Amino acid sequence: MFDICIVGSGPSAVISAQSFLDKGHNVCLIDVGTENKHKVPFKHFGEQLTPESTFFYPPEDETLTTESGGAQVTKAREHVITNVHKYLKLKSDTFSSFQTLAAGGLSAAWGAACFTYSDEDLKKASIGDLQTHYEAVAKIIGISGPKQSQFCKIENKQRPALLDHNGQSILSQRQKAFKLEQSCMAMLTEPLNGRKSNPYFDMDFYSNFGDSIFRSDSLLKTLIQHHNFTHIQGALVTSFKEIDQHVEVKYLEISSSITNQVIASKLVICAGALNSYRLVANSLKIFNTPNPILCNPYLNIPTIHLPSLGKKGAHLRYSLSQVFGEFHGNTDMTLQFYSYRSLLLSRLIEQTPMPPFFARLFWRSLVESLVIVGAHFADDGKSQRSIQADQEKPEEALPTLQIDYPYPAIDGTFSLIKNLLKLRCMPIGIVKTKMGASIHYAGTIPVSTPNQHPIGMNEQGLVHTTKNVYVFDSSGWTYLPSRGLTFTIMANAHRLSEAL
Ligand SMILES: Cc1cc2nc3c(=O)[nH]c(=O)nc-3n(C[C@H](O)[C@H](O)[C@H](O)COP(=O)(O)OP(=O)(O)OC[C@H]3O[C@@H](n4cnc5c(N)ncnc54)[C@H](O)[C@@H]3O)c2cc1C
Repeated sequence: MFDICIVGSGPSAVISAQSFLDKGHNVCLIDVGTENKHKVPFKHFGEQLTPESTFFYPPEDETLTTESGGAQVTKAREHVITNVHKYLKLKSDTFSSFQTLAAGGLSAAWGAACFTYSDEDLKKASIGDLQTHYEAVAKIIGISGPKQSQFCKIENKQRPALLDHNGQSILSQRQKAFKLEQSCMAMLTEPLNGRKSNPYFDMDFYSNFGDSIFRSDSLLKTLIQHHNFTHIQGALVTSFKEIDQHVEVKYLEISSSITNQVIASKLVICAGALNSYRLVANSLKIFNTPNPILCNPYLNIPTIHLPSLGKKGAHLRYSLSQVFGEFHGNTDMTLQFYSYRSLLLSRLIEQTPMPPFFARLFWRSLVESLVIVGAHFADDGKSQRSIQADQEKPEEALPTLQIDYPYPAIDGTFSLIKNLLKLRCMPIGIVKTKMGASIHYAGTIPVSTPNQHPIGMNEQGLVHTTKNVYVFDSSGWTYLPSRGLTFTIMANAHRLSEAL
């Protein structure tokens, strides 16, 4: 029997596991943990472009579009979507989910942008004080960025990364509306725990050279070395059952389709807000009964940054967010600025109403000045939405999720466009993505009083009606700020694990 059984290997799971192991507990972590089999040569993006380099292309899955948030999935990262359609079914006309059974969870593909939340936002989200936990997590994962930051207020920081030409130019523009700052990234600029600094090969959508970007599987590799840690891989957890003071956790071995189980004193579910809900609903047999859900609405605005037009771009660079932005005095919208080069132009060419030859010439002449502005909006949970588990086919391992989430009204788009022009970023379109495409999910098992929701939890993450079943990802949150959530997910998992 284990002291603690953890479900999942995403950011919340590995931080939780680390914290329990540090306290000497006997921990078992169960995940499907599909691994990345692609070996990408250690070379700069410019030297990779040969006809054999098929890993640059999108995988064959028509659900992965820019509108659905899947544009960052390349063949090199195909493992993030393996088995998802088979085991994590979701029905919706209004919500497009991004789920994974990969080792490291969604962090296998995340953009590594790190933000801290204000005290007010933490309170609205029903999360306790996190300052010491932000610092503890930063020491584990490694965050680089400006020492003085309004977006990521922590002491433990590595020196900022090299900004590319667009990032530098945007920060140098004179404008009054936004506060702008170099992005804080879970990306090393100095070695840490066997991981290396980013080589600036602009290959970060395809590979993770030296594990410079924090992806949870790199921490998992070090957890496995602890004598008090057991990793059950290739296993889909299907339900739990409490027996006296213990929890019986049932799982399906993916390779053999055999059902097995482990017993633990406490179960800590970290399956991500959508799948923690699915697992709890299935175990408590609460079907066809709606619960809340939170998700940031997201706009994707391709722009041409005029000062970079016709100029040669930076050779050495990383591919992820360069600059963070927010309007002064308004934290309901958070911006991230990216250069586009290394996500292949073929995706744009496909969508351009011109013959491919001309479309290619057109985009080639613009590529170094192409800046994508991602705008995330806060979710106060007030508009109509719901998540529920449907047990249409009881023979299936897990129930189908049904999510209804019409796009809520968002403010500030006009003002955003106007002020982007002042930054000399000329919008060439606005992609209003489907709800879900932000890939920021929370609030499916809210912190609440018993019976306030069909499924809820208390402030310690304990699921109501259970004695020893906890959820430590973002499922319990009651508000979702516009800033990226994952650094806070990890700090909160650290806080809850220490408390438990
Ligand atoms: C392309 C992309 C870009 C992103 N960029 C950013 C960013 O820049 N900044 C930011 O803050 N966030 C970003 N995110 C979001 C971020 O990745 C997630 O918020 C974060 O990974 C959530 O962590 P988690 O621990 O809650 O769950 P997840 O990462 O979702 O992990 C869940 C884990 O549970 C496992 N699991 C699920 N169900 C079961 C089951 N039944 N049995 C066994 N295992 C199960 C999964 O396999 C996985 O290992 C991005 C995500 C993507 C995909």
